Amino acid sequence: MGKAIQIDRFGGPEVLEWREVEIAPPGPGEVLVRHTAVGLNFIDTYHRSGLYPLEFPAGLGTEAAGEVLAMGSRVQGLQVGDRVGWLGLPPGAYAEERLYAADRLVKLPADVTDQTAAASLLKGLTAWYLLHRSYRVQAGDTVLLYAAAGGVGLLTAQWAASLGVRVIGVASTAEKAALARASGCSEVVAADETEFVARVRELTHGEGVAAVYDSVGKDTFFQSLDCLRTHGTMVSFGNASGAVEPFSPMELARRGSLFLTRPAVFDFIRTREELEAATGALFAALQAGAIRVTVNQTYPLAEAARAHQDLEARRTTGSSLLLP
Ligand code: NDP
Repeated sequence: MGKAIQIDRFGGPEVLEWREVEIAPPGPGEVLVRHTAVGLNFIDTYHRSGLYPLEFPAGLGTEAAGEVLAMGSRVQGLQVGDRVGWLGLPPGAYAEERLYAADRLVKLPADVTDQTAAASLLKGLTAWYLLHRSYRVQAGDTVLLYAAAGGVGLLTAQWAASLGVRVIGVASTAEKAALARASGCSEVVAADETEFVARVRELTHGEGVAAVYDSVGKDTFFQSLDCLRTHGTMVSFGNASGAVEPFSPMELARRGSLFLTRPAVFDFIRTREELEAATGALFAALQAGAIRVTVNQTYPLAEAARAHQDLEARRTTGSSLLLP
């Protein structure tokens, strides 16, 4: 037995319930993990609202760190007491303890704390694939990054800047803009700037940016396409304002033969080798100081509903943690 947040229906933060749950002993290839820190992610709100459907009763949460409590048969390379982290599906991180597939757990290096891991595994691997797989940045590129002061945003801005990329951030308040600048953005455009496209074009001498990393979705999609240079790449990777509506591919042709990708982090870490390569890159970037994880909000796990309210109301910056 342990306590966890579960949902029995889709809806607002009020559907989150803190309850006792049964946990079976670990089966073959499974590990029982006691969570010490749980990451809060915008994707959790999509699971809660039903934008990304789940079957009930459903757990929530896709990123956590903790300690191996027990192991089933056929588990290799792990021991009871090891510090581990994970990111992935099915959701279920909002729990004191959970079972997870041993081959999806990552041992944490001694100098990466549980809180840093829980605040950066999903967000940091997202930053990694955005910059190294979706649009492969090169030193000297200029890119546009939405929600630059958010969890994914602060990590992506820092990592890009460390690679010699010029990052134009987007943020909704002066405080967020200052944070984005301190984390590698050369310039920051206000999210509600009325001359948004003209401002970005001005910053690129009329040319447009090499890539847009757009996590806002519905409200910004076409404005983002308008900010791209000829042959630029639109990376539409989130729906903070709602899902992008269907549209004609001609929209890409008439703006200069653009490329469009709609990626999801889990497709970049499907195999054990991919997971190890990506987490290895993240840990190396942390250890080299190329990126620093900023945890600006913590909540007791039982109060996850309050965390969802803050995240959706744009009140958070950097990473947020839920603490069991
Ligand atoms: P953030 O910490 O970035 O929080 C979301 C931010 O989005 C807000 O702070 C706000 O910043 C901005 N925003 C703009 N419009 C809205 C709106 N209408 N409602 C709420 N927020 C808005 O969250 P995460 O770091 O967890 O995730 C960032 C984005 O990346 C999300 O869209 C998420 O879905 C996406 N994502 C996608 C992944 C993928 O692989 N496809 C993986 C991980 C995350 P501001 O006020 O400055 O505009």
